[in-house]
Amino acid sequence: MENNEAKMKELLYDFRRYFEQLKDDGVEWVETSHLLPPGDTEVAPARKPEPARAYPRPEKSSRPRKTTPAYPEEKAAPAVQKPDLSSPAEKFRVLIERINNCRNCGLASTRNRAVPGEGGNALRILFVGEGPGAEEDRTGRPFVGRSGQLLDKILAAVSLTRNDIFITNIVKCRPPGNRDPHSEEVIACWPYLDEQIKILRPRVIVTLGAPAAKTLLDTTEGIGRLRGRFHDYHGIPLLPTYHPAYLLRSYTLENRKKVWEDMKLLREFIDKL
Ligand code: SF4
Repeated sequence: MENNEAKMKELLYDFRRYFEQLKDDGVEWVETSHLLPPGDTEVAPARKPEPARAYPRPEKSSRPRKTTPAYPEEKAAPAVQKPDLSSPAEKFRVLIERINNCRNCGLASTRNRAVPGEGGNALRILFVGEGPGAEEDRTGRPFVGRSGQLLDKILAAVSLTRNDIFITNIVKCRPPGNRDPHSEEVIACWPYLDEQIKILRPRVIVTLGAPAAKTLLDTTEGIGRLRGRFHDYHGIPLLPTYHPAYLLRSYTLENRKKVWEDMKLLREFIDKL
């Protein structure tokens, strides 16, 4: 019996040394429930205590949780109005821009401004002269000098205004000294008039002076023989008459009468449309 007691003391002593050693090693808690008999939980710790910590627990971040998408929301791009290149107005605007910047012939080096043409197209009447004069070259507008003032009177005589017609020239830049345009200049500039005709789709064309009539009708016949009747330009009636500048130079009763007759033909044609 004494022997058992001594063994028990020795065993308890070993346990104590063992736990002290653990404590020295920094162990603060040991699971012992598995050492108890099944069903005996009286001394078993209910839950594992929180170990002391040497540093403060980092605060739980108050930042919102990072969520995927890091992509910024795609903002709707501001609507860009694309030009409608199929509309005649936009086509015409682009064409005029090209004419204003054109350097396809020698007249580009002597002009001040190109003169693409202007007017209304409600009645689809196209007037075509030969080339800009000094005042047109300065302003960039067609028929604004003395010839233009006379043209206004001729139009008024048949109840038309500039707004009722579109007026342009065979060449869009002024030939120096108001000379007739050279054939290479007419050829270089022709695509612009051709495109203007295609966009404006005139119901009638009136040519002013010999160069315009000869170019469009592709003839060498003089204006004296061409005027006074309609010709055909690819299915469009074309009426040649004298240029107002010629009338100013030869302001005879006979010439004015001829122009008046031509304008009456135009008026009759329009009235039948
Ligand atoms: S006359 Fe016609 S082709 Fe020559 S530079 Fe002027 S716009 Fe161009």
